Amino acid sequence: AHLDRIAAVDGAVHAFLHVDEHGAIEAARAADDRLSKGEPASPLDGVPIAVKDVIVTRGLPSTAGSRILEGWVPPYDATVTERLRAGGLPILGKTNMDEFAMGSSTEHSAYGPTHNPWDLDRIPGGSGGGSAAAVAAFEAPLAIGTDTGGSIRQPGAVTGTVGVKPTYGAVSRYGLIALANSLDQAGPVTRTVLDAALLHELIGGHDPRDSTSLTDPVPALVEAVRAGAAGDLSGLRVGVVKELGGEGFQPGVEARFAESVELLRDAGAEVVEVSCPHFEHALAAYYLILPSEASSNLARFDAMRYGLRVTPEGDPSAEDVMRATRDAGFGDEVKRRIILGTYALSSGYYDAYYGQAQKIRTLVQRDFDAAFAEVDVLVSPTSPTTAFPLGDKLSDPISMYRQDIATIPANLAGVPGISVPSGVADEDGLPVGLQVLAPQRADDRLYRVGAAVEA
Ligand code: GLN
Repeated sequence: AHLDRIAAVDGAVHAFLHVDEHGAIEAARAADDRLSKGEPASPLDGVPIAVKDVIVTRGLPSTAGSRILEGWVPPYDATVTERLRAGGLPILGKTNMDEFAMGSSTEHSAYGPTHNPWDLDRIPGGSGGGSAAAVAAFEAPLAIGTDTGGSIRQPGAVTGTVGVKPTYGAVSRYGLIALANSLDQAGPVTRTVLDAALLHELIGGHDPRDSTSLTDPVPALVEAVRAGAAGDLSGLRVGVVKELGGEGFQPGVEARFAESVELLRDAGAEVVEVSCPHFEHALAAYYLILPSEASSNLARFDAMRYGLRVTPEGDPSAEDVMRATRDAGFGDEVKRRIILGTYALSSGYYDAYYGQAQKIRTLVQRDFDAAFAEVDVLVSPTSPTTAFPLGDKLSDPISMYRQDIATIPANLAGVPGISVPSGVADEDGLPVGLQVLAPQRADDRLYRVGAAVEA
């Protein structure tokens, strides 16, 4: 049924870069066999899933939205992919994304944009717009995204889906094509908070192949959903982040957010305002740290080991081949960030830019520590606006970056976050997301609160 739905609507939505009909059907048949014997491989056995193209999948193309990886078929599975397969989930295909996960609209994909199923002339968010659009358009019941600065939560918000960025290290990064190693985290994109919990429990947990993987067991997330769904949040302390609202936030987004806060109060939570004074510098710090790490990661695309190779005329040197390949293989946003990153890391500028940004990162972490000494969770709108029209911010990188204002602090601090649908904005009828943030390793709180407020 999902393959039929993809065939019917994906021409207009363009959520997928690659659909694996054969593999999905084969995996579904195997699941059928297990289920008919009453031996499910996991609670999600047989439930199909779409996977963001930045997660490697053995035998299936994995381009990360870039020309430079066009035609590359990985010889191995990411840990996330391995766990999906072991859990019996048929992989429907690979979803569209901004090139190397750089962007907030999926317009930086080398393979053309994804369209928001709510309004095809609008963006589905980014960088994981394909995963969110696939779920919103009923092409897939579940999807995997990755969140380095908001790429699971913001697409979730603007497509009316649930998106979770787990605690840094809670889900293995092995086989995730790195954007910024200290920020990247894979997580669920779903239609309900319960689905997200089931998926998170399946993909989470220690992996010796990722040196930053947490050794703690995954918290009891499904149980937390059950507790939250009962609608009683008494005893829970909720902090409204003063800095994540006001100027730059669309009125309809703020109105839905205010209603969500009322819902939390009605459920018995104690709501207070908290201040995180360094959040206003988080965006600037992120856009130095991220390009620095990315410029280093992208050095591996050297025309020798993966994908594309462009050989100029004449008698080119290895360097000529690398230059021609990287010139043709990387898009404008990727080049912009390589330039920013190599500049920020260069000797003489390192202390002024990268070093300063790292200090801000520590101050943001301290803001979280201080806030979480007072409250159990923090809340804010996920994104300052609803889905904007395609093309609107393409020529203005800074306004694109500003989409991430509310999501980036969590990545800098490694704390988990969820975006839960909270209705539509009055002015445009488009979805709005509520963001809930919790301390590191307290991902269960996101699910408790998410389940309590979900429509
Ligand atoms: N918009 C952010 C960026 O462009 C999102 C990155 C991400 O989460 N992958 O860097």
